[in-house]
Amino acid sequence: MIKWHEGLSLGVKSIDDDHKQLLNIINRLSDAIRDGNAQEIIDKTFQDLEKYVIEHFHREELLLAKCNCLHIKEHIAQHREFAKKVPELKAKLANAKNSAMAQEVSYFLTDWLFNHIIEEDIPTIGLFEKCGLTEQKKNKKKNFISQITKKTIENFSFTKRIFLSAIIPLLGMLLFGTIILFNNLTTYINMKKTSSITKIVSNVDRVVHDMQIERGLSSGDITCIDGKFKDSLKEQRHTLDISAKKFLEEVNLASIKRIDVIQPYIKTFQMDHSSLKELRDKIDAKTITQAEAIKSYTKIIKNILNITPKIAFLNYDREISSNITTLSSLQHLKESLGKQRAYATMLIENKDGLLEEFIDFATLEGTQEAFFETFKQSASKSQKNAYNSIMISDIAKKVDEYKESIYLRKFDSLNSQVWFDSMTDLIDEIKIFEDSLLFKIDSLVDASIDDSVIHLLLWLSFATTILIVTLSMLYTFRTSTKYQIHQLTDAMKDLAKGGRSLRLSPININRDELAFMYDAYETTRQKLLKGDIYTQLYLSKKELEIQTHQKQNVELQEMAYIDPLTGAINRRKFDELSQEELERSNRYKSELSFLMLDIDHFKNINDTYGHDAGDEVLKHFSAICLKMARSLDIVARVGGEEFVVMLRETDSKGAFIFAERFRQEIFDSELNIDGNIIKYSVSIGISSRKEDDKDVRSILQRADKALYEAKNAGRNRSVVYSNAAKN
Ligand code: GH3
Ligand code: MG
Ligand code: MG
Repeated sequence: MIKWHEGLSLGVKSIDDDHKQLLNIINRLSDAIRDGNAQEIIDKTFQDLEKYVIEHFHREELLLAKCNCLHIKEHIAQHREFAKKVPELKAKLANAKNSAMAQEVSYFLTDWLFNHIIEEDIPTIGLFEKCGLTEQKKNKKKNFISQITKKTIENFSFTKRIFLSAIIPLLGMLLFGTIILFNNLTTYINMKKTSSITKIVSNVDRVVHDMQIERGLSSGDITCIDGKFKDSLKEQRHTLDISAKKFLEEVNLASIKRIDVIQPYIKTFQMDHSSLKELRDKIDAKTITQAEAIKSYTKIIKNILNITPKIAFLNYDREISSNITTLSSLQHLKESLGKQRAYATMLIENKDGLLEEFIDFATLEGTQEAFFETFKQSASKSQKNAYNSIMISDIAKKVDEYKESIYLRKFDSLNSQVWFDSMTDLIDEIKIFEDSLLFKIDSLVDASIDDSVIHLLLWLSFATTILIVTLSMLYTFRTSTKYQIHQLTDAMKDLAKGGRSLRLSPININRDELAFMYDAYETTRQKLLKGDIYTQLYLSKKELEIQTHQKQNVELQEMAYIDPLTGAINRRKFDELSQEELERSNRYKSELSFLMLDIDHFKNINDTYGHDAGDEVLKHFSAICLKMARSLDIVARVGGEEFVVMLRETDSKGAFIFAERFRQEIFDSELNIDGNIIKYSVSIGISSRKEDDKDVRSILQRADKALYEAKNAGRNRSVVYSNAAKN
């Protein structure tokens, strides 16, 4: 009886129940055949099977159609093929000569059922699962993680999953890095801009400084009668023109053009610069008052001085910004000092002035204080110290003395040239301080640019390295994993084809999921190998059993016609064989002779030496007879101590020669039994086939007669019936 195996279950209850029921009926059929039940019962079981198969096929085909099975046609074809085979099986069962033949039908049915389930039904499990027909599917509640896992498995191949798991964080990192890189780049660009900005600042500084000097000299020149400022003024105008030209050239650079906030001031300066010639002419012709000239210059200077604070706000680096603000406050301070220089020169030259001119002069003092406050806000400690050291220098003291005298209107002791020079010296000191600040701003910008470039390069090389390392690692991981999976797949395929020799051992020492798969493969291989060997062993055992049975059967058959004591064939078999041979001989008209042999005075041997010794004599007699007869002759024991020899293709003459040789051999031989030497003889009657012999018995009767003659003639002789010759 073959039991149902749970591995054959599809998970669809109705189909599984059908399969179990079918196996059940086949088992019943097999049992009925084995137990030799009446043919009606067997037929009835087969009919049950036939009916059930049709019902089952119908149910299964409906489900397959419901689930849109792609291979439904092939599947149904298999069912039809089986249905066609049923009448054949029925006939085979009805005509079976024995139970073994009938059992073959049940074997075929079991084989077909299991094959069909494994090869056709089981591959449709996935389809049934999708359709929601399987049991587990309904009961299993899915959590969020398992749903995500399922979706991932459905949508991404294994190698894609490896690739994505590495590339997504990498892309995130690169994106993050690119934002930093972009930030770096903008800083770099800003710094580049800043470097051009500092150029403007220094140019502004230069132009303002030169214009302030020209303003002072112009103011002096207007009031001066001896023309002592003339040469210096001429020279200064040339210097201013050069610095103004350079400034405008610098401003025309693309990067500066893009700074909108300073453009209006630059445009104004361009106009101011072109109208400067007119102003200078007026000064030379003295058609302009000193105050008007100062105001005109101051207006131009004021415009340009607006540029620096605007730039300070533009900047991004705090340190540079505060340094530019400091610079700007110094520029304004310087301008205020310049204006004071001009106004005071005018007052000293005129030895007096209007009240408002004094007020202007005093206001400038306040302006200076205000700018100094701004300076203090943005300047560093060392910058403040530097400023203080200028303000307590001898020049500053001299300037203060002059200012004191001006406020007190003590103009007699004052020399305009000395005032102008002292003030110029002080302004120059501040200019030097400004220059140092400019230099500092420049070096700060350079350092920032260097930093930005280094950051940029560092980031680029870092990102490139990470990218190369990740991609190459990814490639290696992917290739190695693929290699292992392919190896496993190939091995599994080999296993499925029946190969059992591919032994796999995981290369990695660390046990991982793949190593476990290798283990699982190896265990499966060993189990299957074991199964194969067991099957082989079982089969060979069965074969051996069959062989043994066959051998036993042969032995049993042989025992049925061989005399156990002498090894000669028995009377029954002899009758069968001799009759067949006579018929053949009659057909082919071939010679056939029979010898009838009887041991002489055998009774005496028994009586003298015992029955066992008699048996030994019989064995001895038979052994010699069998030895001397040809393979085509037959030796049979037909009575106690009577034997018959059938000689094929032998006439009476030949038979007589054989009989004599044999008789002589027996006569000459002797037996030693328990120390007794036994000698005995044999009498032989011979008869050959005659044309009208239909029955062996008649030939044997003639041979018997000849034997009788031999006995009567004194024994130990051979007599041929036909001529009844006596030796
Ligand atoms: P004859 O020369 O006239 O043939 O004398 P005989 O003694 O051989 O003749 P008989 O037929 O009177 O004796 C045959 C004896 O053979 C009788 C029987 O006890 C003995 N005998 C028959 N079968 C066996 C046997 O299987 N084993 C032994 N030991 N003796 C047997
Ligand atoms: Mg005898
Ligand atoms: Mg006898």
